[in-house]
Amino acid sequence: MAMLDRDMRYLAASRRYLSDYGVTHLFGRSHYEVFPETPKRWKRAHRRCLAGAIEICDEDQFMRPDGRVQWLRWEIQPWRDDDAGEINGILIFSEDITERKRLEAALHASEERLRRLLDTDAVGVLFFDYDGTLIGANDVFLRITGYTRAEVEARKLHWRDLTPPEWVKTSEEQMETFATTGRIGPYEKEYFLKDGSRRWMMFAGRDLGDGTIAEYCIDITERKALGDEGRRKDEFLAILGHELRNPLAAISTALQVLSGGGTPAQRGELEEVMVRQVALMRRLLDDLLDLGRITHGHIELVKERIDLAEFLRSAAESLQPAVVNRRQKLLLRLPPESVQFMADRVRLEQIATNLLSNASKYTDPEGRIELSGAREGSEVVLRCKDNGQGILPEYQEKIFEPFTRQTSQDGYGEASLGIGLALAKQLTELHEGTISVESGGAGKGSEFTVRLPLVAPPPVQHAAVQSKPAPVSRQARSVVIVEDNPSVATATRIVLEQAGHLVHVFADGASALEGVAGLKPDALLLDIGLPDMDGYALAAEMKKKRNMREALFVALSGFKQREHRGNPGDGFDHYFVKPVNAAEILALLAKHSRGVKTKAARGTGGDSRATVESVNLASSRRRSEKDVGNGPSDVRPPSRKTGR
Ligand code: ADP
Repeated sequence: MAMLDRDMRYLAASRRYLSDYGVTHLFGRSHYEVFPETPKRWKRAHRRCLAGAIEICDEDQFMRPDGRVQWLRWEIQPWRDDDAGEINGILIFSEDITERKRLEAALHASEERLRRLLDTDAVGVLFFDYDGTLIGANDVFLRITGYTRAEVEARKLHWRDLTPPEWVKTSEEQMETFATTGRIGPYEKEYFLKDGSRRWMMFAGRDLGDGTIAEYCIDITERKALGDEGRRKDEFLAILGHELRNPLAAISTALQVLSGGGTPAQRGELEEVMVRQVALMRRLLDDLLDLGRITHGHIELVKERIDLAEFLRSAAESLQPAVVNRRQKLLLRLPPESVQFMADRVRLEQIATNLLSNASKYTDPEGRIELSGAREGSEVVLRCKDNGQGILPEYQEKIFEPFTRQTSQDGYGEASLGIGLALAKQLTELHEGTISVESGGAGKGSEFTVRLPLVAPPPVQHAAVQSKPAPVSRQARSVVIVEDNPSVATATRIVLEQAGHLVHVFADGASALEGVAGLKPDALLLDIGLPDMDGYALAAEMKKKRNMREALFVALSGFKQREHRGNPGDGFDHYFVKPVNAAEILALLAKHSRGVKTKAARGTGGDSRATVESVNLASSRRRSEKDVGNGPSDVRPPSRKTGR
């Protein structure tokens, strides 16, 4: 505090005043000399106070003579002569509030930091009273849950209203922990949104000590979904390993027996086992590769005219071996009228085969399977019905997702990877169709329905004359195999040698280029993935040689489609996907006579299936017309072979 006269000269000043302003001697000195930086507004305040006013300021800044900026709270009032009451000067009361201001600023900054932290888009904040009633929430929480601020602040929502029944117990346990520790979580649970849907949320909270509990929550629904996907994939890999082990075990046992001899009948039986198991593995791998290719948009449909009745017969026939094995009954219902439509035959067969093999797999021996097809308005509808295990309601959507299986049920020891239906669905959707299932639940059987838009085929060109197939020559050929996998090379060599061809095998591009010098091969079978160069580069090099002018170039690849450049410039006349069917290579060689190259069945459209795949080409199989007829008919398993 300081006392000044009318000329603003100091009459007295407290020690605190001196120290607050950083000055020592003031008595008799003019305020404005001591503080030449006195702001004008203060000078005006002094004048007003000398005229009788009282002025108060709760916070103000002032630069001390030593340069420090100070926060002050001040009050100025006039003092008067005792007798006359005249104003003789002013009293200045001031308080240094710099420290208080610093603390306030720090608090404000920290609050601001906290506010910004909570103001992210991700963290919901909610406040409960000790009874568990929601009393407040931030915008993020409101946005996630769909409640309005008014609804929350009406204090009518209890945590139980927001918690699905199966999570109530978890939440109660958290409340018990809270009662002893003052803290909640972190823990995860599903949460009800206002519209009744659910989200996965992670919660953590603590007692604020004033009768309220603060909790933060983060929506983790997407992360959970990724986790589920990861788990499904892990599970899938484990199953894949398991499923491949079964056929492998059968093949390896069969091989052991074969190497030790066995009667001709036993050998024949074991060969059949091996053929079946290889076909099984091949189908698993094909489905897997196709699923990947569809996911990456690599499958293009090659549509052709399909006769529904013929298609159904052929699909039913492909199920014969399974039906025979399980002594099941397969009923085929053909359309009453002729139905022709455009679709990709191979893909449609894949859809039907997957549905039919599931129907057999998930139906008891002696069970009944029904395949039907008809035109319904502007759609072609295929139905595959069985009286087997059925599908639980909660699985009826999920089974179309990749790697999903109804774990509690068993497909009678058959390979089960959970990809068949996913593939069927995606292939159906590529045709712009839909696939669905109906089942009364466990043990009640299932009915799968595929609906495709009926795309009418163009009118038949009657004038077209079918060209006769070229006569097949059975001449011995000179064949060069370039393959770095010794097992594949040996097996292919033996197959060709058995058919009377002359074979030269090379393990890489360089030795092949050198080794063919004295040869004039009719055909070259080139692996695409060679250690020193790829098969395309090797083909290009080989083609520069005079002795290769008339040779047939055949690519062998472990990959479908991806490596097939699918144009005449890729250097190959044919493209085979491993494992290559020996009969196909032999047929190709038989057809090939020097200088007349055969064409790949599907041209250069980039779809490798057509050139090689024998599996699933049911339509080319021998058809037993007497088993299937027009209208409902039975395809009965032929009587079982004796002695098996
Ligand atoms: P996979 O048969 O290889 O497991 P799918 O994708 O073909 O894979 O089928 C997924 C799951 O759907 C199967 O594991 C099975 O639980 C169930 N399922 C499919 N078809 C049937 C059916 N006809 N009857 C009962 N369950 C079926």
